[in-house]
Amino acid sequence: MQKLKYERPVINKIQVGTAGKFGMKSRFKSIESIDNVPVKEMIEKYGSPVYVISEQTIRKTYRQAKQAFTTRYPKVQFAWSYKTNYLNAVCQVFHSEGSWAEVVSGFEYDKAIDNDVPGNNIIFNGPDKSKEDLIKAVKNESYIHIDHFDELYMLLEVAETSEKKPKVAIRVNMDTGVYPHWARFGFNYENGEAWNALNRIMLSKKLDLVGIHSHIGTYMMSAAPYGVAASKLADLIVGVDKKFGHKIEYIDLGGGFASKNTLKGAYLPGTDTCPSYDDYAEAITNAIINSGIDHENLPTLFLETGRALIDDAGSILGTVLANKRLANGKRSTIIDIGLNMLFTSFWYEHDIVPAQTASFQTEETIINGPLCMNIDIIRENINFPLLKKGDNVVISRIGAYNMTQWMQFITLRPKIILIDMEGKTHIIRENETKNTITDLERMPKHLSKKE
Ligand SMILES: *Cc1c(COP(=O)(O)O)cnc(C)c1O
Repeated sequence: MQKLKYERPVINKIQVGTAGKFGMKSRFKSIESIDNVPVKEMIEKYGSPVYVISEQTIRKTYRQAKQAFTTRYPKVQFAWSYKTNYLNAVCQVFHSEGSWAEVVSGFEYDKAIDNDVPGNNIIFNGPDKSKEDLIKAVKNESYIHIDHFDELYMLLEVAETSEKKPKVAIRVNMDTGVYPHWARFGFNYENGEAWNALNRIMLSKKLDLVGIHSHIGTYMMSAAPYGVAASKLADLIVGVDKKFGHKIEYIDLGGGFASKNTLKGAYLPGTDTCPSYDDYAEAITNAIINSGIDHENLPTLFLETGRALIDDAGSILGTVLANKRLANGKRSTIIDIGLNMLFTSFWYEHDIVPAQTASFQTEETIINGPLCMNIDIIRENINFPLLKKGDNVVISRIGAYNMTQWMQFITLRPKIILIDMEGKTHIIRENETKNTITDLERMPKHLSKKE
């Protein structure tokens, strides 16, 4: 007998139109405005699709996170993770709140400098720093987080000829009980590599060891691993003090806090399952305070939180292009927002809702983007009201990574607008035009039709 294929059980909520204790069931949720600016007005003015960023939400979210940490620990410094969203306007909102810059490439480093971030408020991470990058960072007194031995040797070489002593930290990876274990960045804790790096730095006398860093993963669904990471880093700080009589000034726990998005296949929505800033702060600060570090010399706590600080502030507004009935009977709604603009729909079940009052009736629907590519799916399966061509939709909680990991493919990228604290809208990135793309192209003479 042939073994039957396992099929995952699925529970589907049945939408019935009967009245409850409070009368008729409410309509499918719609989002008709963002920060009191009507969605339809923004689409009319700036086109469809269009990305929208709420300055108010960024500031509110940042302040909540900051409060969770500063109420528990005396010295806290956030550094905005540029790769999560490096639109200059977004970075400036974070910098105006007191956030430093955390960068992972020469390009991002230069962006931070252009944003007037003082060199000594920039944390330089990542495995790819060129010699020129290092020379610049040393000159600007930035914090260089060493990722591997080859970088350490290059930096020692740079130190030979530079006037200033480079300020460095090492990135440490470790087993925090979360798998897969991110082992490819930094020096391993358990196998002694981290200690080898610390010893070489201290014995070289050419580098100023000011910090210790780890970034254990992203979208961490539990706070406890941060406690493990903080204890292991604190052990290294205690060890360096004991062995060399040297005080490390800061401990950097990286990023990775989960945003409230729902992962594909998750049983409950992210809003119900993700730890709060208080949960993360409790795990981290308790571990540092309870460690062997002398309380007089508690290190400054650096945080490089990315996604959790910006996801909620970003939305993308779009328009229904068509509806179809697929061969298997399922309804497909095609919208003008594709995977090329919403990279994160690979792993999130994004919240997509109509921008106008919708019908009571919903149907299991697949939401497709406009690309000529079979995998252009924004939602595989969603109970969705019947929208018609020209109706608008809002996809919320998309502020993290989409505006940096997007790709130029088939269509051009749309405008990005910011709603300021007074509810005024500003274009912070223009839409691409054909020339944005073709201006970079060159035609070899033998293929050119022009004289
Ligand atoms: C990406 C990254 C961050 C931000 O991560 P999130 O998961 O977005 O919070 C912080 N630090 C480093 C080194 C990173 O590479």
